Amino acid sequence: ATGPTTETTETTDGETKASDPGDTGTEPESAVETARRQLSHAADHLDIDPNVVERLKHPKKVHEVTVPVERDDGSVDVFTGYRAQHDSVRGPYKGGLRYHPDVTRNECVGLGMWMTWKCAVMDLPFGGAKGGVAVNPKSLSDDEKERLTRRFTQEIRDVIGPTRDIPAPDMGTDPQTMAWLMDAYSMQEGETIPGVVTGKPPVVGGSKGREGAPGRSVAIVCREVVDHYDRDLSGTAVAVQGYGSVAANAARLLDDWGATVVAVSDVNGAVYDPDGLDTHDIPSHDEEPEAVTRQDIGTLLTNDELLELDVDLLVPAAVGNVLTADNADDIAADLIVEGANGPTTTAADEILADRGIPVIPDILANAGGVTVSYFEWLQDINRRAWSLDRVHDELEAEMLSAWEGIRTEYERRDVTWRNAAYIVALSRVADAHESRGLWP
Ligand code: GLU
Repeated sequence: ATGPTTETTETTDGETKASDPGDTGTEPESAVETARRQLSHAADHLDIDPNVVERLKHPKKVHEVTVPVERDDGSVDVFTGYRAQHDSVRGPYKGGLRYHPDVTRNECVGLGMWMTWKCAVMDLPFGGAKGGVAVNPKSLSDDEKERLTRRFTQEIRDVIGPTRDIPAPDMGTDPQTMAWLMDAYSMQEGETIPGVVTGKPPVVGGSKGREGAPGRSVAIVCREVVDHYDRDLSGTAVAVQGYGSVAANAARLLDDWGATVVAVSDVNGAVYDPDGLDTHDIPSHDEEPEAVTRQDIGTLLTNDELLELDVDLLVPAAVGNVLTADNADDIAADLIVEGANGPTTTAADEILADRGIPVIPDILANAGGVTVSYFEWLQDINRRAWSLDRVHDELEAEMLSAWEGIRTEYERRDVTWRNAAYIVALSRVADAHESRGLWP
Protein backbone atom coordinates (compact mmCIF):
# COMPACT_ATOMS: atom_id res chain seq x y z
CA ALA A 1 0.00 0.00 0.00
CA THR A 2 1.06 3.55 -0.54
CA GLY A 3 2.46 4.80 2.75
CA PRO A 4 0.64 7.97 3.71
CA THR A 5 2.42 10.74 5.50
CA THR A 6 0.82 12.02 8.65
CA GLU A 7 1.61 15.53 9.58
CA THR A 8 0.54 17.03 12.87
CA THR A 9 1.16 20.69 13.19
CA GLU A 10 0.89 22.82 16.26
CA THR A 11 -0.99 25.57 14.64
CA THR A 12 0.05 29.07 14.05
CA ASP A 13 -2.24 31.16 12.04
CA GLY A 14 -1.68 31.50 8.34
CA GLU A 15 -4.15 33.63 6.58
CA THR A 16 -6.05 35.88 8.89
CA LYS A 17 -6.43 39.48 8.00
CA ALA A 18 -8.08 40.72 11.13
CA SER A 19 -8.38 44.28 9.90
CA ASP A 20 -10.22 43.38 6.70
CA PRO A 21 -13.53 45.17 6.41
CA GLY A 22 -15.26 41.88 5.61
CA ASP A 23 -16.38 40.54 2.29
CA THR A 24 -16.53 43.02 -0.51
CA GLY A 25 -18.81 40.88 -2.58
CA THR A 26 -16.00 39.56 -4.76
CA GLU A 27 -13.96 37.28 -2.50
CA PRO A 28 -15.85 34.91 -0.23
CA GLU A 29 -14.81 35.28 3.38
CA SER A 30 -13.23 32.16 4.88
CA ALA A 31 -14.88 30.44 7.84
CA VAL A 32 -11.87 31.14 10.03
CA GLU A 33 -11.97 34.87 9.22
CA THR A 34 -15.67 35.03 10.05
CA ALA A 35 -15.18 33.02 13.24
CA ARG A 36 -12.32 35.26 14.43
CA ARG A 37 -14.22 38.46 13.78
CA GLN A 38 -17.23 37.14 15.65
CA LEU A 39 -15.00 36.23 18.58
CA SER A 40 -13.47 39.72 18.66
CA HIS A 41 -16.89 41.39 18.56
CA ALA A 42 -18.14 39.33 21.49
CA ALA A 43 -14.92 39.83 23.47
CA ASP A 44 -15.44 43.62 23.22
CA HIS A 45 -18.50 43.24 25.43
CA LEU A 46 -16.82 41.17 28.11
CA ASP A 47 -14.25 41.81 30.76
CA ILE A 48 -12.07 38.81 30.01
CA ASP A 49 -8.33 38.28 29.86
CA PRO A 50 -7.20 39.38 26.35
CA ASN A 51 -4.60 36.60 26.43
CA VAL A 52 -7.38 34.04 26.63
CA VAL A 53 -9.12 35.67 23.66
CA GLU A 54 -5.86 35.62 21.71
CA ARG A 55 -5.42 31.93 22.53
CA LEU A 56 -8.96 31.17 21.36
CA LYS A 57 -8.29 32.73 17.95
CA HIS A 58 -6.04 29.75 17.24
CA PRO A 59 -6.80 26.04 17.18
CA LYS A 60 -4.84 23.84 19.56
CA LYS A 61 -3.83 21.43 16.82
CA VAL A 62 -4.59 20.74 13.19
CA HIS A 63 -3.93 17.24 11.92
CA GLU A 64 -3.44 16.82 8.20
CA VAL A 65 -3.31 13.37 6.64
CA THR A 66 -3.25 11.85 3.19
CA VAL A 67 -5.77 9.14 2.44
CA PRO A 68 -5.00 6.70 -0.39
CA VAL A 69 -8.12 5.01 -1.73
CA GLU A 70 -8.31 2.17 -4.20
CA ARG A 71 -10.96 3.02 -6.78
CA ASP A 72 -13.28 0.34 -8.09
CA ASP A 73 -11.20 0.18 -11.31
CA GLY A 74 -8.05 -0.71 -9.33
CA SER A 75 -6.34 2.71 -9.57
CA VAL A 76 -5.39 4.62 -6.41
CA ASP A 77 -6.34 8.23 -5.67
CA VAL A 78 -4.86 10.11 -2.73
CA PHE A 79 -7.09 12.60 -0.89
CA THR A 80 -6.22 15.08 1.86
CA GLY A 81 -7.99 14.88 5.20
CA TYR A 82 -7.99 17.15 8.25
CA ARG A 83 -9.01 17.20 11.89
CA ALA A 84 -8.80 20.66 13.42
CA GLN A 85 -9.04 20.61 17.22
CA HIS A 86 -9.84 24.08 18.46
CA ASP A 87 -10.31 23.94 22.23
CA SER A 88 -10.88 21.25 24.86
CA VAL A 89 -10.89 23.23 28.10
CA ARG A 90 -14.46 22.10 28.91
CA GLY A 91 -14.16 18.49 27.72
CA PRO A 92 -13.24 16.26 24.77
CA TYR A 93 -13.17 17.82 21.31
CA LYS A 94 -16.47 17.39 19.45
CA GLY A 95 -17.59 18.10 15.92
CA GLY A 96 -18.47 16.77 12.52
CA LEU A 97 -16.57 15.31 9.59
CA ARG A 98 -17.34 16.70 6.17
CA TYR A 99 -16.74 15.13 2.75
CA HIS A 100 -16.79 18.03 0.30
CA PRO A 101 -14.49 19.30 -2.46
CA ASP A 102 -14.13 22.68 -0.70
CA VAL A 103 -12.80 21.24 2.57
CA THR A 104 -9.60 23.06 3.52
CA ARG A 105 -7.48 23.37 6.60
CA ASN A 106 -8.81 26.88 7.26
CA GLU A 107 -12.43 25.87 6.81
CA CYS A 108 -11.96 23.11 9.40
CA VAL A 109 -10.34 25.59 11.80
CA GLY A 110 -13.23 28.07 11.48
CA LEU A 111 -15.89 25.37 11.78
CA GLY A 112 -14.01 23.86 14.75
CA MET A 113 -14.12 27.25 16.52
CA TRP A 114 -17.87 27.39 15.96
CA MET A 115 -18.17 23.95 17.57
CA THR A 116 -16.42 25.26 20.71
CA TRP A 117 -19.03 28.02 21.00
CA LYS A 118 -21.91 25.73 20.06
CA CYS A 119 -21.04 23.24 22.80
CA ALA A 120 -20.53 26.06 25.31
CA VAL A 121 -23.83 27.78 24.38
CA MET A 122 -25.56 24.46 25.11
CA ASP A 123 -23.42 23.98 28.23
CA LEU A 124 -22.27 20.54 27.02
CA PRO A 125 -19.04 19.14 28.53
CA PHE A 126 -17.27 19.23 25.15
CA GLY A 127 -14.80 21.39 23.27
CA GLY A 128 -14.80 22.06 19.54
CA ALA A 129 -13.31 20.37 16.49
CA LYS A 130 -14.09 19.81 12.84
CA GLY A 131 -12.58 17.65 10.14
CA GLY A 132 -13.12 16.28 6.74
CA VAL A 133 -11.73 15.09 3.47
CA ALA A 134 -11.41 17.22 0.35
CA VAL A 135 -13.39 14.96 -1.96
CA ASN A 136 -16.62 15.11 -3.92
CA PRO A 137 -18.68 12.34 -2.28
CA LYS A 138 -20.88 12.14 -5.39
CA SER A 139 -17.82 10.89 -7.29
CA LEU A 140 -17.40 7.89 -4.94
CA SER A 141 -19.20 4.55 -5.07
CA ASP A 142 -20.40 3.19 -1.70
CA ASP A 143 -17.46 0.81 -1.62
CA GLU A 144 -15.00 3.63 -2.31
CA LYS A 145 -16.63 5.76 0.38
CA GLU A 146 -16.27 2.90 2.85
CA ARG A 147 -12.57 2.42 1.99
CA LEU A 148 -11.97 6.18 2.26
CA THR A 149 -13.70 6.33 5.66
CA ARG A 150 -11.84 3.34 7.10
CA ARG A 151 -8.45 4.61 5.92
CA PHE A 152 -9.14 8.18 7.12
CA THR A 153 -10.19 6.77 10.50
CA GLN A 154 -6.93 4.84 10.68
CA GLU A 155 -4.92 8.00 9.90
CA ILE A 156 -6.60 10.03 12.68
CA ARG A 157 -6.96 7.12 15.11
CA ASP A 158 -4.36 8.41 17.56
CA VAL A 159 -6.07 11.76 18.00
CA ILE A 160 -9.72 10.66 18.35
CA GLY A 161 -11.41 8.56 21.05
CA PRO A 162 -14.42 8.69 23.37
CA THR A 163 -12.63 10.91 25.92
CA ARG A 164 -10.39 12.66 23.39
CA ASP A 165 -12.21 13.76 20.25
CA ILE A 166 -15.59 12.48 19.08
CA PRO A 167 -16.50 13.00 15.39
CA ALA A 168 -20.05 13.12 14.01
CA PRO A 169 -21.81 13.56 10.65
CA ASP A 170 -21.66 16.79 8.68
CA MET A 171 -21.99 17.71 4.98
CA GLY A 172 -21.44 14.64 2.77
CA THR A 173 -21.33 12.13 5.65
CA ASP A 174 -24.16 10.18 7.28
CA PRO A 175 -24.94 7.48 9.87
CA GLN A 176 -23.44 4.77 7.62
CA THR A 177 -20.17 6.74 7.43
CA MET A 178 -20.15 6.93 11.24
CA ALA A 179 -20.78 3.16 11.50
CA TRP A 180 -17.70 2.48 9.32
CA LEU A 181 -15.66 4.88 11.44
CA MET A 182 -16.80 3.17 14.66
CA ASP A 183 -16.03 -0.24 13.19
CA ALA A 184 -12.57 0.69 11.88
CA TYR A 185 -11.63 2.28 15.23
CA SER A 186 -13.04 -0.61 17.27
CA MET A 187 -11.32 -3.29 15.14
CA GLN A 188 -7.95 -1.67 15.78
CA GLU A 189 -8.59 -1.22 19.50
CA GLY A 190 -9.78 -4.83 19.83
CA GLU A 191 -13.07 -3.92 21.50
CA THR A 192 -16.33 -2.29 20.48
CA ILE A 193 -16.15 1.40 21.36
CA PRO A 194 -19.41 3.07 20.29
CA GLY A 195 -18.58 6.33 22.12
CA VAL A 196 -15.80 7.23 19.66
CA VAL A 197 -18.32 8.73 17.25
CA THR A 198 -21.91 9.99 17.33
CA GLY A 199 -24.60 10.06 14.68
CA LYS A 200 -24.35 6.27 14.22
CA PRO A 201 -27.33 4.11 13.24
CA PRO A 202 -29.25 3.21 16.46
CA VAL A 203 -28.50 -0.49 15.91
CA VAL A 204 -24.81 0.13 16.71
CA GLY A 205 -25.26 2.57 19.58
CA GLY A 206 -26.66 5.58 17.77
CA SER A 207 -29.33 7.67 19.48
CA LYS A 208 -32.92 7.69 18.36
CA GLY A 209 -33.75 11.16 17.08
CA ARG A 210 -30.14 12.14 16.27
CA GLU A 211 -30.64 12.48 12.52
CA GLY A 212 -33.61 14.80 12.91
CA ALA A 213 -32.12 16.75 15.82
CA PRO A 214 -30.46 19.73 14.05
CA GLY A 215 -33.67 20.44 12.10
CA ARG A 216 -35.75 19.98 15.25
CA SER A 217 -33.67 22.53 17.13
CA VAL A 218 -33.94 24.98 14.23
CA ALA A 219 -37.73 24.59 14.36
CA ILE A 220 -37.81 25.04 18.16
CA VAL A 221 -35.72 28.22 17.89
CA CYS A 222 -37.94 29.53 15.06
CA ARG A 223 -41.01 28.93 17.24
CA GLU A 224 -39.43 30.77 20.19
CA VAL A 225 -38.17 33.73 18.16
CA VAL A 226 -41.55 34.17 16.46
CA ASP A 227 -43.13 34.21 19.92
CA HIS A 228 -40.48 36.64 21.23
CA TYR A 229 -41.47 39.12 18.52
CA ASP A 230 -45.16 38.72 19.49
CA ARG A 231 -46.10 36.87 16.35
CA ASP A 232 -48.08 33.71 15.88
CA LEU A 233 -46.52 30.71 14.14
CA SER A 234 -49.80 30.03 12.35
CA GLY A 235 -49.55 33.37 10.55
CA THR A 236 -45.86 32.97 9.69
CA ALA A 237 -44.63 32.54 6.10
CA VAL A 238 -41.29 30.73 6.05
CA ALA A 239 -38.71 30.30 3.27
CA VAL A 240 -36.17 27.53 3.88
CA GLN A 241 -33.01 27.34 1.79
CA GLY A 242 -32.03 23.70 1.31
CA TYR A 243 -33.85 20.38 1.69
CA GLY A 244 -31.19 18.21 3.29
CA SER A 245 -31.49 16.80 6.79
CA VAL A 246 -31.50 20.16 8.62
CA ALA A 247 -33.78 22.01 6.18
CA ALA A 248 -36.32 19.23 5.58
CA ASN A 249 -36.73 18.37 9.25
CA ALA A 250 -37.07 22.03 10.21
CA ALA A 251 -39.53 22.77 7.38
CA ARG A 252 -41.71 19.75 8.16
CA LEU A 253 -41.89 20.49 11.89
CA LEU A 254 -42.72 24.15 11.26
CA ASP A 255 -45.38 23.03 8.79
CA ASP A 256 -46.78 20.57 11.41
CA TRP A 257 -46.80 23.34 14.02
CA GLY A 258 -48.91 25.60 11.80
CA ALA A 259 -46.44 27.81 9.91
CA THR A 260 -46.80 28.23 6.13
CA VAL A 261 -43.63 27.00 4.41
CA VAL A 262 -43.71 28.87 1.11
CA ALA A 263 -40.34 27.90 -0.39
CA VAL A 264 -37.64 25.22 -0.15
CA SER A 265 -34.69 24.48 -2.44
CA ASP A 266 -31.82 22.24 -3.40
CA VAL A 267 -28.67 22.81 -5.43
CA ASN A 268 -30.72 23.09 -8.66
CA GLY A 269 -33.12 25.78 -7.47
CA ALA A 270 -36.22 26.45 -5.38
CA VAL A 271 -39.97 25.84 -5.46
CA TYR A 272 -42.29 28.59 -4.22
CA ASP A 273 -45.99 28.61 -3.42
CA PRO A 274 -47.35 31.57 -1.41
CA ASP A 275 -50.24 29.36 -0.21
CA GLY A 276 -47.78 26.90 1.33
CA LEU A 277 -46.00 23.74 0.18
CA ASP A 278 -46.83 20.28 1.43
CA THR A 279 -43.41 19.70 2.97
CA HIS A 280 -44.05 16.00 3.62
CA ASP A 281 -44.68 15.35 -0.08
CA ILE A 282 -41.36 16.85 -1.22
CA PRO A 283 -38.56 14.25 -0.85
CA SER A 284 -35.66 15.42 1.30
CA HIS A 285 -32.12 15.07 -0.07
CA ASP A 286 -31.71 11.88 1.99
CA GLU A 287 -34.92 10.38 0.58
CA GLU A 288 -34.24 11.29 -3.06
CA PRO A 289 -31.27 13.54 -3.88
CA GLU A 290 -31.93 16.77 -5.77
CA ALA A 291 -35.65 16.12 -6.22
CA VAL A 292 -37.03 19.53 -5.18
CA THR A 293 -37.27 21.16 -8.61
CA ARG A 294 -38.48 17.91 -10.19
CA GLN A 295 -41.79 18.18 -8.27
CA ASP A 296 -44.62 19.56 -10.32
CA ILE A 297 -45.59 22.19 -7.73
CA GLY A 298 -45.45 25.94 -7.25
CA THR A 299 -43.21 28.32 -9.15
CA LEU A 300 -39.53 27.62 -9.83
CA LEU A 301 -37.09 30.17 -8.44
CA THR A 302 -33.32 30.36 -8.13
CA ASN A 303 -31.69 30.00 -4.72
CA ASP A 304 -30.84 33.72 -4.84
CA GLU A 305 -34.49 34.58 -5.44
CA LEU A 306 -35.54 32.37 -2.52
CA LEU A 307 -33.24 34.30 -0.18
CA GLU A 308 -34.85 37.59 -1.25
CA LEU A 309 -38.49 36.51 -0.82
CA ASP A 310 -40.71 38.82 1.23
CA VAL A 311 -41.45 36.35 4.03
CA ASP A 312 -41.76 36.57 7.81
CA LEU A 313 -38.96 34.11 8.47
CA LEU A 314 -35.97 33.06 6.37
CA VAL A 315 -34.05 29.90 7.30
CA PRO A 316 -30.81 29.45 5.31
CA ALA A 317 -30.15 25.76 5.98
CA ALA A 318 -27.90 24.60 3.14
CA VAL A 319 -24.34 25.91 2.87
CA GLY A 320 -22.18 28.70 4.28
CA ASN A 321 -21.72 32.28 2.99
CA VAL A 322 -25.09 32.72 1.27
CA LEU A 323 -26.01 36.03 2.94
CA THR A 324 -23.29 38.40 1.80
CA ALA A 325 -22.63 42.09 1.14
CA ASP A 326 -24.10 41.45 -2.33
CA ASN A 327 -27.60 40.54 -1.22
CA ALA A 328 -27.97 41.73 2.40
CA ASP A 329 -29.66 44.96 1.30
CA ASP A 330 -32.21 42.98 -0.70
CA ILE A 331 -33.22 40.53 2.03
CA ALA A 332 -36.93 41.15 2.64
CA ALA A 333 -37.52 38.67 5.48
CA ASP A 334 -38.41 40.08 8.92
CA LEU A 335 -36.47 37.43 10.85
CA ILE A 336 -33.58 35.09 10.01
CA VAL A 337 -32.74 31.83 11.77
CA GLU A 338 -29.46 30.21 10.67
CA GLY A 339 -29.87 26.48 9.99
CA ALA A 340 -26.54 26.01 8.16
CA ASN A 341 -23.18 26.66 9.77
CA GLY A 342 -21.94 30.14 8.84
CA PRO A 343 -24.53 31.23 6.24
CA THR A 344 -24.01 34.95 7.03
CA THR A 345 -20.74 36.76 6.30
CA THR A 346 -19.51 39.47 8.66
CA ALA A 347 -20.39 42.24 6.19
CA ALA A 348 -23.90 40.88 5.71
CA ASP A 349 -24.31 40.56 9.47
CA GLU A 350 -23.53 44.26 9.88
CA ILE A 351 -25.89 45.31 7.10
CA LEU A 352 -28.71 43.16 8.50
CA ALA A 353 -28.10 44.57 12.00
CA ASP A 354 -28.25 48.13 10.61
CA ARG A 355 -31.48 47.26 8.85
CA GLY A 356 -32.93 45.92 12.11
CA ILE A 357 -33.36 42.34 10.85
CA PRO A 358 -32.69 39.94 13.75
CA VAL A 359 -30.38 36.99 12.89
CA ILE A 360 -30.53 34.05 15.30
CA PRO A 361 -27.12 32.40 15.03
CA ASP A 362 -26.20 28.88 13.94
CA ILE A 363 -24.40 28.11 17.19
CA LEU A 364 -27.78 28.12 18.92
CA ALA A 365 -30.24 27.25 16.15
CA ASN A 366 -28.70 24.04 14.80
CA ALA A 367 -27.14 22.96 18.12
CA GLY A 368 -29.73 20.21 18.47
CA GLY A 369 -27.36 18.00 16.46
CA VAL A 370 -24.50 18.14 18.90
CA THR A 371 -26.88 18.13 21.86
CA VAL A 372 -28.35 14.78 20.81
CA SER A 373 -24.77 13.69 20.03
CA TYR A 374 -24.09 14.33 23.71
CA PHE A 375 -27.16 12.24 24.62
CA GLU A 376 -25.80 9.51 22.30
CA TRP A 377 -22.39 9.61 23.97
CA LEU A 378 -24.05 9.27 27.38
CA GLN A 379 -26.11 6.31 26.13
CA ASP A 380 -22.95 4.67 24.70
CA ILE A 381 -20.98 5.09 27.91
CA ASN A 382 -23.87 3.79 30.00
CA ARG A 383 -24.77 1.05 27.48
CA ARG A 384 -28.40 2.06 27.81
CA ALA A 385 -30.61 3.45 25.02
CA TRP A 386 -33.13 6.23 25.57
CA SER A 387 -36.63 6.30 24.05
CA LEU A 388 -37.38 8.76 21.27
CA ASP A 389 -39.78 10.59 23.61
CA ARG A 390 -37.01 11.04 26.16
CA VAL A 391 -34.62 12.38 23.49
CA HIS A 392 -37.26 14.86 22.27
CA ASP A 393 -38.19 15.96 25.78
CA GLU A 394 -34.59 16.49 26.89
CA LEU A 395 -33.69 18.27 23.63
CA GLU A 396 -36.66 20.60 24.06
CA ALA A 397 -35.57 21.36 27.64
CA GLU A 398 -31.93 22.01 26.64
CA MET A 399 -32.95 24.26 23.74
CA LEU A 400 -35.32 26.31 25.89
CA SER A 401 -32.71 26.73 28.59
CA ALA A 402 -30.05 27.87 26.05
CA TRP A 403 -32.57 30.18 24.37
CA GLU A 404 -33.51 31.80 27.70
CA GLY A 405 -29.83 32.29 28.57
CA ILE A 406 -29.20 34.08 25.28
CA ARG A 407 -32.42 36.08 25.48
CA THR A 408 -31.36 37.36 28.89
CA GLU A 409 -28.02 38.65 27.49
CA TYR A 410 -29.76 40.06 24.41
CA GLU A 411 -32.15 42.10 26.54
CA ARG A 412 -29.65 43.07 29.22
CA ARG A 413 -26.86 44.25 26.93
CA ASP A 414 -28.71 45.50 23.86
CA VAL A 415 -26.50 43.52 21.46
CA THR A 416 -27.27 41.39 18.39
CA TRP A 417 -28.52 37.85 18.92
CA ARG A 418 -25.20 36.55 17.62
CA ASN A 419 -23.25 38.62 20.11
CA ALA A 420 -25.57 37.52 22.91
CA ALA A 421 -24.90 33.85 22.05
CA TYR A 422 -21.15 34.46 21.81
CA ILE A 423 -21.19 36.29 25.13
CA VAL A 424 -22.80 33.27 26.82
CA ALA A 425 -20.39 30.83 25.13
CA LEU A 426 -17.22 32.88 25.49
CA SER A 427 -17.90 33.61 29.18
CA ARG A 428 -18.11 29.88 29.89
CA VAL A 429 -15.00 29.00 27.88
CA ALA A 430 -12.98 31.92 29.23
CA ASP A 431 -13.99 31.16 32.84
CA ALA A 432 -12.80 27.58 32.36
CA HIS A 433 -9.49 28.80 30.89
CA GLU A 434 -8.95 31.27 33.71
CA SER A 435 -9.75 28.67 36.30
CA ARG A 436 -7.48 25.99 34.78
CA GLY A 437 -4.72 28.50 34.00
CA LEU A 438 -2.01 28.44 31.35
CA TRP A 439 0.49 25.63 31.84
CA PRO A 440 3.44 25.78 32.37
N1 GLU B 1 -21.87 18.51 12.39
C1 GLU B 1 -22.83 18.92 13.36
C2 GLU B 1 -22.67 20.39 13.70
O1 GLU B 1 -22.11 21.14 12.94
C3 GLU B 1 -22.87 18.02 14.59
C4 GLU B 1 -21.61 17.91 15.37
C5 GLU B 1 -21.68 16.84 16.45
O2 GLU B 1 -22.73 16.25 16.66
O3 GLU B 1 -20.65 16.59 17.05
O4 GLU B 1 -23.13 20.85 14.70
